[in-house]
Amino acid sequence: MRFKKSSKNRKLMCEICANYCKIKENDYGICRQYKNIDGELIDCNYGVISSVNVDPIEKKPLNNFLPDSLTYSLGGFGCNMGCLHCQNYMISHEYNEFSSAIKMTPERIVENAINSNCKSISWTYNEPTVNLPFNHNVSLVARDKGLKIIYVSNGYMSTRSIEEILTFVDAFNIDLKAFSTDFYKNICKAHLDVVLDNLKKIYSSGKHLEITNLLINNKNDSEKQIKDLIEFISTELSKDVPIHFSRAFPYYKMTDITPTYSKVLFKAKEIAEDYGMKHVYLGNI
Ligand code: SF4
Repeated sequence: MRFKKSSKNRKLMCEICANYCKIKENDYGICRQYKNIDGELIDCNYGVISSVNVDPIEKKPLNNFLPDSLTYSLGGFGCNMGCLHCQNYMISHEYNEFSSAIKMTPERIVENAINSNCKSISWTYNEPTVNLPFNHNVSLVARDKGLKIIYVSNGYMSTRSIEEILTFVDAFNIDLKAFSTDFYKNICKAHLDVVLDNLKKIYSSGKHLEITNLLINNKNDSEKQIKDLIEFISTELSKDVPIHFSRAFPYYKMTDITPTYSKVLFKAKEIAEDYGMKHVYLGNI
């Protein structure tokens, strides 16, 4: 069971991600994937795929895991954060139920990945944690066939889910959106400390970890914030963890920004290298 029942009312507490939504009858959680139907938590989009592609693994981005290989990328619908600048909002937030979706079985997904010469399956596009029951089942079939499993994620899992995910995922790219509690609260509707805690758990598990930081002009690009972020990675994790600084574009509910200035990205790279970070990459540039 991935939920708890309240003894006082018929609300259910979903334990899949760090939102721990308390869902009343006939209502959905924040991600709109789970519904309380007759006191049971129902995964409304189990096996529903919004997007599929065969990609170079570097596109995830993962530069230091199975380099020069192909990965079978797929995702579903929904997200557990509410980022105003979401770069995938059409499948994460503003979608009609089952619009442009296909249903796929775990066996079909694995067969397609192998036939496409992929060495891994990447759960990406939307937040994979909200599709955990399905992507866990697919991943078990995939691992039996020798495929590696990748999560491209915001790192906002519940305590229980991160433990489960660490049993079947081989490599992560975690989007560390900013080193600011206010940014997480006001722009992403989430809590920074949960993400930092999960990053430590992933790193200490020995699984492959890379981090992406999408820099937005005048929102999360101050020198102090970049230094704090790098200080966290280099001291609490390791200087060996690859970091990708990426350019943001005006999108979704944040259309009043300009694309991130190149000088901001180059400055971030310089700061990270001054701290001794060994693998620093720039993206969308
Ligand atoms: S997965 Fe997260 S956002 Fe979705 S219903 Fe469960 S706790 Fe809420």
